[in-house]
Amino acid sequence: MIAQGLPVTEHEQHVARNTGKVILVGSGPGDPDLLTVKALRLLQQAEVVVHDRLVSDEIIALINPQAECFFVGKKAGHHCVPQSGINQLLVDLALQGKQVIRLKGGDPFIFGRGGEELEALLPFNIAFEVVPGITAASGCAAYAGIPLTHRDYTQGVQFITGHLKDDANQLNWPLLGQATHTLVFYMGLTQSSGIALNLIEHGMSADMPIAIVERGTSQRQRTLQGSLKDLGDLAAQAESPSLIIIGGVTQLASKLDWFSATLSDV
Ligand code: SAH
Repeated sequence: MIAQGLPVTEHEQHVARNTGKVILVGSGPGDPDLLTVKALRLLQQAEVVVHDRLVSDEIIALINPQAECFFVGKKAGHHCVPQSGINQLLVDLALQGKQVIRLKGGDPFIFGRGGEELEALLPFNIAFEVVPGITAASGCAAYAGIPLTHRDYTQGVQFITGHLKDDANQLNWPLLGQATHTLVFYMGLTQSSGIALNLIEHGMSADMPIAIVERGTSQRQRTLQGSLKDLGDLAAQAESPSLIIIGGVTQLASKLDWFSATLSDV
């Protein structure tokens, strides 16, 4: 990017003319109706799209049929294309002068490695933009009838990754165990028993209500409800992608769930 008001070197002029751009676009949690208007426009006009596994098929179907598509899907535990390879692909395509749509599930800046991908562009002076998306927590909570905050239950909410590298000690369990706000764990299915054990060990009630929202906002959304001590057992019945919500607000799903009534049996 060329800062305004500064003298522009010949090299910078060259870069500005010939280098493409990367647009990091959030696709939301799955329901194509939850795309932003800007995301939809960019997908329909796309020249090149680089997308992840979490982007729903219905959204992929909205991409300009003439666009060149690269799938760099990631699954828990293994990456189809390592992060360094994804970064390199974005750089290579942009340096070829392409406008690259980097399409990610949910919001690109919430557990989406969007920041890392943009940082990889900086040494090459590649221009970029970010289009936010509805993150899984907002989408799943809304479609499951779970207000993440509610004056009768909680004054706050925290988004946490359950995908812990080597051990669970990266999280501040003493603080989380005392939490009076809603906790939302992304990528938490495989570590769910450990999450429950740590929270209970650090003071949270074993009877704290919890919910797991599976494939949130899709036609196959399912909500499993129980209490913290059952989290591991419930998670064993759930499939990825699933979101774990911990807190009193999850009880509201029993009366505020509006979406499951709209689903036809599949
Ligand atoms: N950037 C994404 C999150 C990527 S991390 C966002 O903002 O939503 C991937 C995790 O997100 C999954 O393991 C799961 O916990 C959660 N997730 C994403 N989409 C989901 C969905 N439709 N239903 C339930 N959980 C989802």
